[in-house]
Amino acid sequence: MIVYVDIDGVLADYDRAYEEVRMGMPETKYPQSLPGFFTGLHPIQDAVTSFQVLSQHHDTYILTAPSNRNPLSYTEKRLWVEEHLGFDATEKLIICSNKGLLKGDILIDDNIDGKGQENFEGKLIKFDRRIKGAWQQIIQQLCG
Ligand SMILES: [Mg+2]
Repeated sequence: MIVYVDIDGVLADYDRAYEEVRMGMPETKYPQSLPGFFTGLHPIQDAVTSFQVLSQHHDTYILTAPSNRNPLSYTEKRLWVEEHLGFDATEKLIICSNKGLLKGDILIDDNIDGKGQENFEGKLIKFDRRIKGAWQQIIQQLCG
């Protein structure tokens, strides 16, 4: 199967970094526009190992939309993938503002629309990090 995995809110903890900037610098209107914002994101729990397991079972890609508030996001997302998922994973990185244009079987994303998720032809698995063991459930479902 062809599987796509989102970065922000699925592999990387966007919300935590966003809140940290807002707490430290409340005048910052767009925290995601700061240089280093995307390289500094912490991986979400179990995300890195789950990506490796998924990659062993399926043709797995990283599918993320760029931040139009931050032109550096293209480079920073690439650097994040290399640092946390390894050099080989950089060949699987797709940065695309319309996820509905891609062919595939599964899209794992924390949003069901906004970046073309609603038009994805395959199955959309909504990732909810608030669920304990969210990644484990997905691995069981797709690799069990
Ligand atoms: Mg996301």
